[in-house]
Amino acid sequence: MPVPRLTEVLAELDALWPPERAEQWDAVGTVCGDPDAEIDRVLFAVDPVQEIAEEAIRLGAQLVVTHHPLYLRGTTSVAASHFKGRVVHTLIKHDIALHVAHTNADTADPGVSDALAGALGLRVIGPLVPENGLGRICELDPPETLAAFATRAAERLPATAQGVRVAGDPDATVRRVAVSGGSGDSLFDAVRAAGVDAFLTADLRHHPASEAVQYSPLGLVDAAHWATEWPWCELAAAQLDEISDRRGWNLRVHVSKTVTDPWAAHHTSSSAHHTSPGAPN
Ligand SMILES: [Zn+2]
Repeated sequence: MPVPRLTEVLAELDALWPPERAEQWDAVGTVCGDPDAEIDRVLFAVDPVQEIAEEAIRLGAQLVVTHHPLYLRGTTSVAASHFKGRVVHTLIKHDIALHVAHTNADTADPGVSDALAGALGLRVIGPLVPENGLGRICELDPPETLAAFATRAAERLPATAQGVRVAGDPDATVRRVAVSGGSGDSLFDAVRAAGVDAFLTADLRHHPASEAVQYSPLGLVDAAHWATEWPWCELAAAQLDEISDRRGWNLRVHVSKTVTDPWAAHHTSSSAHHTSPGAPN
């Protein structure tokens, strides 16, 4: 079976996640790599960090595809004295290419939020923001309580130190859910307009979250950023695997199980001096 060249693989990846669909501020595409290099192993991961570069070496991969960009703002140096430059050096020394699909994978169909919905066993009804394809509105069948939905998220997403945080009435019924992989608090207007019972995303900050639950009885489930985007790696790997089968390529895909979420520990508060509404006193 033929081994594809990097350019052939990238042409297929660009068809899945057209780079022109990325946000203006984003930096998607190929960070390093020889277009003529032969690719027979590909590693998918969320973050282009040193641990992932080293995993690619151990695996013998010639291509790493990550969701997050290595350089979002451009650079004038890839010196190995900087941690990002070290990643570049490690990859190039081992003839490994790096390709990024970020906001173009967020807005793709299927994309990051479809993978998140799939991991949670939710039925996707449509995009949360129809104008740009971000997020998904989903249905939970049968409905369950917010507490049960949060438990589902904690059990089905990859384990992180953070786990999931919940805002809202734990006994509220959740039928319709908005989900968005990655930082989601810029989407609250769309979430309110969608009239869902709960919103599952990551990186929710105090003020947007506080205002959202004061505004309406919306349940919030906040998971680790990495955990909400990791299911996309499995989806993306399966998509490339299917393409490889169709093209008769000798190509193997792998998904990194390395947890690159930066938060490494979680301590549940134990101070008895404050109470929250609903907490036993
Ligand atoms: Zn992200």
